[in-house]
Amino acid sequence: MSYPGMFCITPLFHTAAVRPPIMKRQPREAIMSDTIGVFETPSLEATRERMRTLLSGLLPAFEIDMKAELAHEINRLKKQMNAVILGHNYMEPALYCSVPDYTGDSLELARISSETEAEVIVFCGVQFMAETAKILNPEKTVLIPSEKAGCSLAEAITAEDVRQLKAQFPGVPVVSYVNTYAEVKAESDYCCTSGNAEKVVRYLLEQGHNQVIFLPDEYLARNTAHEVGLEFIFPPENGVHGDGAMAEKKPAMIGWPGRCEVHEKFEVEDIERVRKQFPDVAIVAHPECSPEVVALTDYTGSTKQMIEYVRRVDAPRYLLLTECSMGDNIAAENPEKEMLRLCSVRCPHMNQITLEDTLEGMRNLRHQVSLSEDIIKRARLPIDRMLAIV
Ligand code: SF4
Repeated sequence: MSYPGMFCITPLFHTAAVRPPIMKRQPREAIMSDTIGVFETPSLEATRERMRTLLSGLLPAFEIDMKAELAHEINRLKKQMNAVILGHNYMEPALYCSVPDYTGDSLELARISSETEAEVIVFCGVQFMAETAKILNPEKTVLIPSEKAGCSLAEAITAEDVRQLKAQFPGVPVVSYVNTYAEVKAESDYCCTSGNAEKVVRYLLEQGHNQVIFLPDEYLARNTAHEVGLEFIFPPENGVHGDGAMAEKKPAMIGWPGRCEVHEKFEVEDIERVRKQFPDVAIVAHPECSPEVVALTDYTGSTKQMIEYVRRVDAPRYLLLTECSMGDNIAAENPEKEMLRLCSVRCPHMNQITLEDTLEGMRNLRHQVSLSEDIIKRARLPIDRMLAIV
């Protein structure tokens, strides 16, 4: 089937995506002894013990014990169903440390979902992530524990918006953040994640483009534009900036006014206050934070890169400007490191995914991701192109 995006871009693009060889990633050490296939499901006692070890600094014992019963049943069912559970870094600690076979950011989980041999993928993350798993595995059953797990970024743009932008800026490649729904990916030329946005945009610049449409996160676009030396502008109808640059085809990144409702909460004043309170704190930000906030931090990166930073860099204490469950998960994994904890910056969408709903979803094969063949085919191309260059 023809792919419309391919005809509005220069011949310097890949015309066919070459899928990179995928390094097999081992299931996380945490559950190496208990998971699918060759491994046995751990006993309830072993599950409880393990969760107590990891979570006793975060949760009361009675809560851990209740969660351990759910986790044990999910792991038993997982083996019975030949399922794999993927858990995003923003999952609540009790779920994060007990049932996923793999944890990671959007890119890692997309890669893993493309190599799994399990028949069922249970995606403990939000809707667009489960859709990506379905796009990469159309023949498999993909479950998401709650249909309410949306995303303010994914909801900020529609396929029709992208079609209009392409008509407005013919020949300018469209890079869509992976935090978009499948219909938007299907209209895009490339996908990217927060961990590889700069690499994908640099690749396009090397191919001879001087303008890139980057959707839908305004702040990720602004931060990426700054890194690669492009001016950030909105399309003329969405803002006052950039009309002249568009007319003259000046180098520019054309953005969209989408925001992550979690990361946009952090403000410059917050950083200034915390630096006064804890002068030795290492502040680590996600690139969905505003450029003004990012400029005041010690490091910026995807959730995976933030985790690696905490492991790698020895600081007296850390503050992660991101979703608060991730801070809890890092604290559980690094008990020797001091984390300044946030408890009010929880993503309301990630928060929908619980052990209870995961169990119910698996028992009843509830909330299966369903996409049309056409959308799957067209949405896969920008994902494969991304995977081919990162
Ligand atoms: S943290 Fe932000 S980008 Fe991630 S799912 Fe929630 S709203 Fe979307």
